[in-house]
Amino acid sequence: MSKTITVIPGDGIGPEVTEATLSVLRAAGADLEYDEQLAGVAALERRGNPLPDETLDSIRRNHVVLKGPLTTPSGSGFRSINVAIRKEFDLYANVRPVRTIVPGGRYEDIDLILIRENTEGLYVGVEHFIGVEGDPRAAAESVMIITRFGADRISRYAFEHAKRLGRKKVTLAHKANILKCTQGLFLEAAHNVAQEYPGIEWEDRIIDATAMQLVLDPSRFDVLVMENMFGDILSDLMAGLVGGLGFAPAGNVGDEYAMFEAVHGSAPDIAGKGIANPTSLILSAAMLLDHVDQREAGDRIREAVERVLRTGSMRTADTGGDAGTRAFASAVVRALD
Ligand code: NAD
Repeated sequence: MSKTITVIPGDGIGPEVTEATLSVLRAAGADLEYDEQLAGVAALERRGNPLPDETLDSIRRNHVVLKGPLTTPSGSGFRSINVAIRKEFDLYANVRPVRTIVPGGRYEDIDLILIRENTEGLYVGVEHFIGVEGDPRAAAESVMIITRFGADRISRYAFEHAKRLGRKKVTLAHKANILKCTQGLFLEAAHNVAQEYPGIEWEDRIIDATAMQLVLDPSRFDVLVMENMFGDILSDLMAGLVGGLGFAPAGNVGDEYAMFEAVHGSAPDIAGKGIANPTSLILSAAMLLDHVDQREAGDRIREAVERVLRTGSMRTADTGGDAGTRAFASAVVRALD
């Protein structure tokens, strides 16, 4: 029986890259049914709620989501729906594979996986302004929350993921030298978990030194694990090593639910023009196929994307070409063998 997944096309370029991705999934023979739902600004405009109950119910039914980018207003307005979905479904592991697809970058053959803790740290949103002498916003403070439970389970996820994929090494990037309680606890928990995986090399590194080493010599890393905000920043840095966010897929995975999404935003500057690069969401859909045990279809999609990008004749505007979103997706469909 085919697997039904929830599809959230999202805002801005979301519907365009989602349409392109669904055309590739269908052509690749993915055994999926699609339950389309609204979230973000699209949902606010049509349902009066950026995260409607119908969408939540669909995710509860289907357990697996493919999601386009959602617009989040800065400073004021509703809180991030991405963060809300991650919290609601306890999607605690953000998995970002980073692989060279387009040759000619700073490094060849990059093949890294970043695992970011998705539910704790500064992203718990415990923050407020502090008023001083008539200025209600004279200061602001934000609380970083790390629990032994959270640090233990993300570390375990990283080692299990490494083991499943036959990876050799796990690196924890942290700042325990300065943040002795929060980061110290994370380091302690990860160190304890590492002892249970003697077959996998383990190291810990200070986050800033890790950032520099990633740029100088990414080949010294394999699987990296870190808390929420460090992971947010380093995953974009790592995407930059292989051509930018347009090529970066992501999975948000929990014990019961999983959501696969493009890591770039809704790109309002090019929305509706039909020129967005759909690669990130297409590769995220391939990760989704791995997750639902349709790895063969996932591999075919990855190979087809690689074939199209390596020939160099079909590029979207962000990579110096003039192909539109649909034309690019059609080329991927033709490259499926
Ligand atoms: P963005 O990623 O939307 O855009 C940054 C730049 O990259 C823009 O010039 C854009 O045109 C370009 N770009 C992004 N994706 C592209 C693609 N697929 N093809 C070609 N060019 C692409 O980042 P932003 O401008 O900071 O954010 C816009 C909105 O998206 C904000 O509301 C933000 O909150 C939201 N956002 C959502 C997600 C998500 O849903 N996961 C992630 C990041 C940002």
